[in-house]
Amino acid sequence: MASADIGIDLGTSSILVYTKGKGIVLKEPSVVAYDKDADKVKAIGEEARQMIGRTPGNIMAIRPLRQGVISDYTITEKMLKHFIQKAMGRKAFRKPRISICVPSGVTEVERKAVEEATYQAGAREVYIIEEPIAAAIGAGIDITKPFGNMVVDIGGGTTDIAVISLGGVVVSSSIKVAGNDFDEAIIRHVRKAHNLFIGEQTAEAVKMKIGTVCKRPQAETMEVKGRNVITGLPKTVTVTSEEVREALQECTTKIVEAVHSVLEKTPPELAADIVDRGIVLTGGGSLLDGFEEVISQRTGINTMTAENPACVVAEGTGRYAEVMEELGK
Ligand code: ADP
Ligand code: MG
Repeated sequence: MASADIGIDLGTSSILVYTKGKGIVLKEPSVVAYDKDADKVKAIGEEARQMIGRTPGNIMAIRPLRQGVISDYTITEKMLKHFIQKAMGRKAFRKPRISICVPSGVTEVERKAVEEATYQAGAREVYIIEEPIAAAIGAGIDITKPFGNMVVDIGGGTTDIAVISLGGVVVSSSIKVAGNDFDEAIIRHVRKAHNLFIGEQTAEAVKMKIGTVCKRPQAETMEVKGRNVITGLPKTVTVTSEEVREALQECTTKIVEAVHSVLEKTPPELAADIVDRGIVLTGGGSLLDGFEEVISQRTGINTMTAENPACVVAEGTGRYAEVMEELGK
């Protein structure tokens, strides 16, 4: 396979585009604002994201990828086209060769849909890359050797866990618990404990600022604004990191248990390698404080987060061909 001109990480939450030589050239939310009355796309990416929860009735903010799969094909294609053009710039004469990654749990039909959408969006050639392999390459793991490596990618819609050796996925699991579920857990908690309605963006901000999945000696606090459930009026409350940790516990446990069960299914030689080499966390969701600790506590295996974890899949997708060349694939 020839090396791609651009690599795309088509995520539930964000789209990243990597170009050879330049690195990550684009990182935007995978959101499209759509005008129902005019049957037209109003905005794509960051501009569209700001419209979520703030749009008049005729404009819908759509996330065309839900939990790692394409739920709205036409909109996904429009969105891909927009970002490919934006990444390539005006001076692109030739259609690009594009490598694009799909989550490990997708069906053949979904894989074909991504491929077709990428061709429709203007690709000359399309290579579909498995996400865990891309994540491992991007995290700097040498996947060309016969050693077991475990990568846990915590995204927006799914957490994907995989054991990789010799350029292939040996054991994997994908669960529909990830960043978005943490946001929803925070929304539910704040409504129940503080009688306050908050939106997705506020919940995400709470998660990023004071959220943690690991008990800390010192609790942090944050002022949170929303709408009083009872009076319907705007209201401000103070939320602590410890109550957020408790609210997130159910989701955290599901992720940690999923890692544990993949380890149980891992062949012994590879498991021994993972003990030596540790578990690597990737994906934007791994930026939530405390994952390294809770996973290593539960599994007894040293766990570390990749550098720039939200960017590694895009980087690995872009570099896939050159890495595989070494493997003679
Ligand atoms: P996807 O691959 O599904 O598009 P990403 O890898 O981009 O997902 O991760 C998106 C998730 O990461 C979102 O749920 C977002 O809230 C979360 N996230 C991003 N930054 C942080 C942070 N600093 N702390 C906690 N969560 C974060
Ligand atoms: Mg991802």
